Amino acid sequence: MRWVYAFTEGNAQMRALLGGKGANLAEMTRAGLPVPPGFTITTEACRAFFQAGRRISDEVRQQIAAALKQLERDKEQVFGSAQQPLLVSVRSGSVTSMPGMMDTILNIGLNDDTVEGLAALTNNPRFAYDCYRRLIQMFGNVVMGIEPIHFERLLQRLKQQLGVQEDREVPADGWKRLIVDYKECIQAKAGRDFPQQVHEQLLLAVEAVFASWHNPRAEVYRRLNGIPDDQGTAVNVQSMVFGNRGDDCGTGVVFTRNPSTGENRLFGEYLINAQGEDVVSGARTPLAIAALRDQWPDIYRQLEQVCRQLEAHYKDMQDIEFTVENGKLYVLQTRSGKRNAQAALTIAVDLVREGTLDKQEALLRIEALHLDQLLHTRLDEDAATDVLAVGLPASPGAAAGIAALDADTAAAWSKEGKRVILVRPETTPEDIHGVLESEGVLTSRGGMTSHAAVVARGMGKPCVCGCEELHIDLEQRCIAVGNRTIAEGEWITLDGASGRVIAGEVPLKEAAMTDELRQMLQWADEVRTLQVFANADNPEDAQIARRFGAQGIGLCRTEHMFFAPERLAVMQRMIMADTPGERAEALKRLLPMQQADFAGMFAAMEGLPVAIRLLDPPLHEFLPKVGELQQKLQQAIGDTDKEALRRMIRKVHELHEANPMLGQRGCRLGIVFPEIYEMQIEAIFCAASDCMDKGIRVLPEIMIPLVGHVSELKALRELVDQTAERVLGAERKRACPYKVGTMIEVPRAALTAGQIAEYADFFSFGTNDLTQLTFGYSRDDAEGKFLTRYIDGKLLPHNPFQVLDTEGVGQLIELAASSGRSVRPSLKTGVCGEHGGDKESIAFCHRAGLDYVSCSPYRIPMAIIAAAQAAIQHQAERLVTAAHKDAS
Ligand code: ADP
Ligand code: MG
Ligand code: MG
Repeated sequence: MRWVYAFTEGNAQMRALLGGKGANLAEMTRAGLPVPPGFTITTEACRAFFQAGRRISDEVRQQIAAALKQLERDKEQVFGSAQQPLLVSVRSGSVTSMPGMMDTILNIGLNDDTVEGLAALTNNPRFAYDCYRRLIQMFGNVVMGIEPIHFERLLQRLKQQLGVQEDREVPADGWKRLIVDYKECIQAKAGRDFPQQVHEQLLLAVEAVFASWHNPRAEVYRRLNGIPDDQGTAVNVQSMVFGNRGDDCGTGVVFTRNPSTGENRLFGEYLINAQGEDVVSGARTPLAIAALRDQWPDIYRQLEQVCRQLEAHYKDMQDIEFTVENGKLYVLQTRSGKRNAQAALTIAVDLVREGTLDKQEALLRIEALHLDQLLHTRLDEDAATDVLAVGLPASPGAAAGIAALDADTAAAWSKEGKRVILVRPETTPEDIHGVLESEGVLTSRGGMTSHAAVVARGMGKPCVCGCEELHIDLEQRCIAVGNRTIAEGEWITLDGASGRVIAGEVPLKEAAMTDELRQMLQWADEVRTLQVFANADNPEDAQIARRFGAQGIGLCRTEHMFFAPERLAVMQRMIMADTPGERAEALKRLLPMQQADFAGMFAAMEGLPVAIRLLDPPLHEFLPKVGELQQKLQQAIGDTDKEALRRMIRKVHELHEANPMLGQRGCRLGIVFPEIYEMQIEAIFCAASDCMDKGIRVLPEIMIPLVGHVSELKALRELVDQTAERVLGAERKRACPYKVGTMIEVPRAALTAGQIAEYADFFSFGTNDLTQLTFGYSRDDAEGKFLTRYIDGKLLPHNPFQVLDTEGVGQLIELAASSGRSVRPSLKTGVCGEHGGDKESIAFCHRAGLDYVSCSPYRIPMAIIAAAQAAIQHQAERLVTAAHKDAS
């Protein structure tokens, strides 16, 4: 078994085995770049180390010894010799870059003997003792577990005694004294001596780097970034070069382009006469890389050349570590550089224009996360420091405003021109006017599908919900968090993308559709086959969606149109009606409101399809909660008021269901109260007719929710066709190419899709409900209670409400799509629901051969890119499979 590879033996493809750093060191060595020689101990050795109870096996030891021998020959030095001492660094290097999360030790091979040798050989005792004290400190910390602060205190004391400010002013004798102090410190804290045996130093250092894979900050980092725990880290043993040997030496970090703007110019920092971590540690203020051009023009030119070569080689912006020893440049690390959203796009587009990348490669580089950052208002991160609490990231975007603790206050303050954040324990439909007038919503209870979350997402407003650390005191009008109190009227800022609640007003950055993004979307359109529609419930959102590239509306949730206060009152009257006459009266008032909404949507989406879903939620969602009504009843004075409240309480009780999610909702509502659906259908066709009068091309699609049996769709389709005929007349009806389809969100509908397709022009997979009903989870309960446990305990790979469960729910989708199409070849199929905006789910939809996905307006560019990525990857896989077939 091979556990160790020299840098000359590896390459960039061996990343899983050699880690990112090791693979790239090998790749650079092969490319002839000036990399100090060394070798890599594999990630497999790390895994074996943990399996053997944190022990390095004899076989691995032997291979390390052999590689070290080779290194000695290459360098013409000897590890542990005082005449020609070989010094090495022991560097961690995981597969996925985890900057600064694990440990590295420099200058291994120094002891009381070899340090003298190094001093004599270099004729520079100050340098030799500087290296030695650094080794003892790093070793003491990483291997022997002594807090760095103990060493720093001793260093501070020394500098005070010497009356100097900076490390580089400390003379050789000073370092000698410090080395004595450090050794005593190690003996006192660790109960053993700093090892003088250099081979012992090396093995202990390798063990410590392996072990650092499980240090707490590395574990947290992995969890946050979804890096598997069992990957392990490789260890690189590399011969030292010295940036701290004198004033013709130095060390630095350079990005081949600017990581925050993308500008094609070297960006970075360096320090003269310094080693390794000095640049990042902040002990000394480094110089901007541009200054190097004047200081060492030759080195700067070489560095530029290295940057160009590495960028061309890796076809990406690189983050490079370098060291200069006695006027000679060495490269110590390269990796693809971290960058922000705008820089990512600018760099990718520039690389295509420069001929380094092709369009498809550039598209594959785009991360969904980056687009999310670009397309929502976001925080100026530097100012976002005073985090009060973190809740659920329910609706992305950032907002700042003064806290208002009820909807009326929020609305009133907003009318005065103030920016407000509505803060509630939870919201109900009665709070909608407050939500409408607020910049964002914060609740202390409720999950990702709580009322506040759904409404805020629908309106594109930032929302943080379920923030249980907050105690909202409606009596004292304040919010308590830990030992802090925020009074109503004080400024707070929300970050709906991360769930952070921040004290004070944090400056915001606006969402932007940049030229680079437009360019990328155009390239995406050239390759993708999946269409991208928007979920939008009002003309404004439809306009935004269209600007972002939506090809239609895939889901318009009509219930959202009833939430404005004046409409909610009419809706409540409709629900409260005791007689059909009363109900008809209320419906007549709702009709023109809906008609105006639909006309606005049709106009905004002129020439593109607009799928309108008839009323879906159970009716009780439009009424206040019993508790609130009872409270109002206690405070009510007039008899008529009291009677009205009592009536409403009775009605709420009447509508109560043990399990509303499985109760009288969706098409069941339409079957029991056809007059509600009929009003909505009438409004759709009246709006269509209005638009046709104005010469606007309309393509209405009427979507029936929650169908489980073909007879439901059959009955409601008849209602649609009859109403269309009644409203438009036979001739006009023919001129209006409307479609009738259904949501597929009940497993039975998926299983009997062949029957259902007889009456459906399209299937829209409502993957939220389909996931709930396939798993038998109610989303709110699952997310509020057990789902986190399931995901942490790896019982489920993801939250199935965010990433489509392709194995289970996906089977139902594939089955329904294919049996539907076998009955009706022209059947249009797509996914609406949150999965429509998730990258992995979009890739599934592409492979399943669906026609479209539909997602929130702000996620459309991301979905377009994801659709293109799916097409490119799928195509590439098909080519590989075809090549295999040819070969066999
Ligand atoms: P990190 O992952 O924290 O950057 P590294 O292993 O890259 O850790 O090393 C830390 C610092 O030490 C870097 O600045 C690196 O350039 C420097 N360094 C590592 N090995 C050597 C070496 N053999 N010679 C000189 N400097 C080194
Ligand atoms: Mg590094
Ligand atoms: Mg549904």
